[in-house]
Amino acid sequence: MSERPFTELVVTAREQLTPGMVRVRFEAADHEVFAAAFADSAFTDRYVKLVFPQPDGSTVLRTYTALEPDIGAGTLAIDFVVHGTEGIAGPWAADAEEGDRITVRGPGGAYAPDPGADWHLLAADEAGLPAVRAALAALSAEASGHAVVHVPAEEHIQELDGPAGVEVTWVVSTEPDALPEAVREIAWPVGRVHAFVHGEAHAVMHGIRPYLLKERGLPRADVSISGYWRRGRTEEGFRAWKQELASTEG
Ligand SMILES: Cc1cc2nc3c(=O)[nH]c(=O)nc-3n(C[C@H](O)[C@H](O)[C@H](O)COP(=O)(O)OP(=O)(O)OC[C@H]3O[C@@H](n4cnc5c(N)ncnc54)[C@H](O)[C@@H]3O)c2cc1C
Repeated sequence: MSERPFTELVVTAREQLTPGMVRVRFEAADHEVFAAAFADSAFTDRYVKLVFPQPDGSTVLRTYTALEPDIGAGTLAIDFVVHGTEGIAGPWAADAEEGDRITVRGPGGAYAPDPGADWHLLAADEAGLPAVRAALAALSAEASGHAVVHVPAEEHIQELDGPAGVEVTWVVSTEPDALPEAVREIAWPVGRVHAFVHGEAHAVMHGIRPYLLKERGLPRADVSISGYWRRGRTEEGFRAWKQELASTEG
């Protein structure tokens, strides 16, 4: 994503979706720059890097799913998990006000549901929920499958629209391994599955990836899977964790 353009966004609204998530709506300061950046973005997991300038002159990047980019209107939305006072992006979003400005770089992305798959598996926690929402919106009305979303409490459950044939299961638990356990429990239809699995890195990479690739034998190309964040680590610390994981796996 290094050559992706920078776009300045202006906050137009903030909406509290649940106690743990806020939706911030943005309009691009320059619609042409926005249109050029987003025109060719066909991935449902499209993401941007938010650039947070620091007092020492450095910048910190945070990665978020860009929802509903509208080229004509120059707008998009981001759903932020509000995970307390720690961190940079979460607290920024919790207090974002109309008129606030932020620069983003992107978009990047890698996944869109394959219309040729027999069924779709979508699994995420709240950080991956926006991307699951976008994937569900892109599926055809005839698509079938299973969406599994892990939230810490009942009041974090959100409305989630999708095709009638995609069953949505909300896993309400404070247990870190709740998502892997729930994915193992779903009925496994016959046919080719296209999987999209993103959330806390340990749960996803250690709890679900071996299940899908080794136990279920899914081809690597049919599985979009990665950690979106790592418990106990900032995004910088998480990048180091990913490098360690990649080097131990060769
Ligand atoms: C491609 C991609 C798309 C993503 N899309 C979204 C999205 O649409 N919405 C979204 O909310 N997140 C999304 N994320 C995850 C987000 O980038 C991380 O959660 C990021 O660490 C948040 O930055 P921060 O400054 O708030 O916290 P950091 O400074 O990175 O971390 C501070 C502390 O908060 C903890 N923490 C970070 N995230 C969470 C969380 N979700 N729940 C509980 N504790 C947390 C960390 O473990 C650390 O202890 C995405 C990540 C990727 C890679």
